[in-house]
Formats: sequence, C-alpha cells, structure tokens
Amino acid sequence: KEKRVFIFNPGPAALPIPVLEEVREEMLSFRGTGMSILEISHRSKEFEEVLNTAVLRIKRLLNLNDDFEVVFIQGGASLQFAMVPMNCAQPGKPIAYVDTGYWSTKAIQEAQRIVDDVCIVASSKDRNYTYIPKEIPIDDNFSYLHITSNNTIKGTQWWKFPKTGNIPLVADMSSDIFSRVFDPRPFGIIYAGAQKNAGPAGVTIVIIRKDMLERIPKNLPTMLNYTTFVEKNSLYNTPPCFAIYVVEKVARWLEENIGGVAAMEEINRKKANLLYGYIDSQDFYRNPVQPEDRSWMNVVFNLPSPELEKLFVEEATREGLVGLKGHRSVGGCRASLYNGVPLEAVEVLVDFMKEFARRNG
Ligand code: PMP
Repeated sequence: KEKRVFIFNPGPAALPIPVLEEVREEMLSFRGTGMSILEISHRSKEFEEVLNTAVLRIKRLLNLNDDFEVVFIQGGASLQFAMVPMNCAQPGKPIAYVDTGYWSTKAIQEAQRIVDDVCIVASSKDRNYTYIPKEIPIDDNFSYLHITSNNTIKGTQWWKFPKTGNIPLVADMSSDIFSRVFDPRPFGIIYAGAQKNAGPAGVTIVIIRKDMLERIPKNLPTMLNYTTFVEKNSLYNTPPCFAIYVVEKVARWLEENIGGVAAMEEINRKKANLLYGYIDSQDFYRNPVQPEDRSWMNVVFNLPSPELEKLFVEEATREGLVGLKGHRSVGGCRASLYNGVPLEAVEVLVDFMKEFARRNG
C-alpha cells in the first residue's frame, strides 16, 4: 500500500480519507448500475439523486432557508468574477468592492471589464494586505458589496462581515466555505470553487438568494445567466458529474462524520490555535498578519531568509509534509489547514517546525 503524506496544499487540497475510500470502492460500479460515476448519464435517476442530495446537504450545512438556490457551475471562482457583475449589477447603481489582495483584486479587475462604475470602497493595500479594513462606507445606491471572505494568499479572513443594510453582500468564499458558522441572510450571492473545502476542482458552488434573480438582464448568454442554472437544476448542459459526486460525499462526511459546520469550526479553531500559538511563542518563524484578522485556513509565515524558506519546504517535503511553499506572488511559506486536514497533520507540522528551528536558528 502506498504511503499517504500530510497535505497542506492551497487547492486542490486534502480530501477526507473516508471520501477517497468510498470513491475507490464505487469506481467500477456505482450503486449497482455496473457503471462508474464517470460513465453514467447525467440524466440518469442515480446522478440526479446525487445532485439533489448535494444541494440538500449544502443547504442544511449552511442553514440556507428556501430563499436560497444552490447551483453548480463550471469555470471556477474566476468565472464568477465576471458572472456576478453581469447578473447582479443594476443600471445606474455602482457595484462596490473591498480590495483585500490578490483574488479580490482579480475580482475587481474583471468587474471593471463589464461595468463602468466599480467603486473600491475600502482596501488594505496600504499595508500589503496584512489586515481586513474595518470601516466600510456603504451607499444606499450600491448594487451590491463584494468581499473575499478568506484571502488564500495573504492569509487574512473576515471575522465580522460588514453591515450593509438592504445592500446585498456578495462573497467569494472559495477558501473558507463550510469552515465556520455564519448567518447567510445578508448574502445575495455566495460562490466557492470546490477544490479547497468542498471537493475536487471542476465545479463551483453558487448560492443565490432568490430576490437576486429579479435583477438579471434578459439578454445574457444562456450559460452566463444564473437563471439557466436555477431553472434547469444545474442540468441545462452536461455538468461536471464526478466533481459534484465528490462534493456530495464531502458534504455527507461533514454532516455525518464531523457533525456539521459548528463541529468543524471547533476543529479548525484547534488547528489554527496550535499553529499560531507556536508561531507566536518564538521568533524564528513570523506571521505578518494583524492578529485579529488571521485566517484559520491559510497560515502564512516567513523564516529569517528566503534561503531558509527554500530549505524548509524541501526538508518538509522529504518528511512527508507537502504544499508548504507560499504563493509565487508573495513567496514565504503557507500551511493551508482546510477541513480535510486533520489536527494530527498540524501536530506533525509544528513538531517539524520546532526541530527545523533548533537546527537552523
Ligand atoms: N478566489 C479565491 C479566494 C481563491 O482562493 C481562488 C483559488 N485559489 C480563486 C478565487 C480562483 O479560483 P479558480 O481557480 O477556481 O478560478
């Protein structure tokens, strides 16, 4: 049997072992069909049940009432950077964005290709995106306010969402969906690429509050219109069947093995406290983020020099701790502690960090 390593990849990322084992068991014949999920029709009753169950589980996990629709779209979170303004910008009303670094900057740049009036209401660029802006000016005239709930590269996370009154919040939750409890009601749109906390790459979960459907322009191309996905239950065209199938299993694991998002949040709290606690207890490793804005999902850290960072990543990889290199845009190191990463992996990581610091400090 091949050995598993400890996976700290930023996405695609670690998946729960029971999910992978089930996928393996069902690979030659899915639910007595004699076919794998890769070979079965997306119009079969077996697949439709998978899709509907995935939607139900996501709704239960996130406390979504019947005001919300859940759909599956391809094209990654990156396509949502365009679909959100295409579907949700209202004529004569600016769309508002908070710039918290890399992915939110990309969302802003994409929106600017589509809508003339993009308002950057707050930004943490002045301190290299090491914090979350706290004062967010809200104008009654905004179409929506877009935030990135967890900043995968900069290692920051929103712990208190802005109060927007009647203005719908729109959030890119790609790297923290299902990781902690939140009130979904202020959100008009939530989107998340599955490949961090929810499953494999290839599908994006999009949650749409029904009132948002009323503002969608009629002339959008079919595949860029949220209405198509809502009305056809994500089956207008062939969906990414395998990715949705794994998302359903991850959601089941979260409900049945973990006990839901609140229980997951407690595990994530332990993981983050363990790693930040160690980092704060010494001065070989440093985390640049303002403490109250630290991400529980992506812990970024620096060593005394880029040479030591390179050596750290190489030695860690040899020890079976993979994916610790920081994003190419920022360098340094990063441990991604998504839902699929067990507490044990963080314990092994901290032990390795202590030992590496002793030898190189
Ligand atoms: N938003 C965030 C917060 C992300 O972390 C990522 C992926 N790392 C993206 C968007 C882009 O996602 P995709 O590759 O699915 O387009």
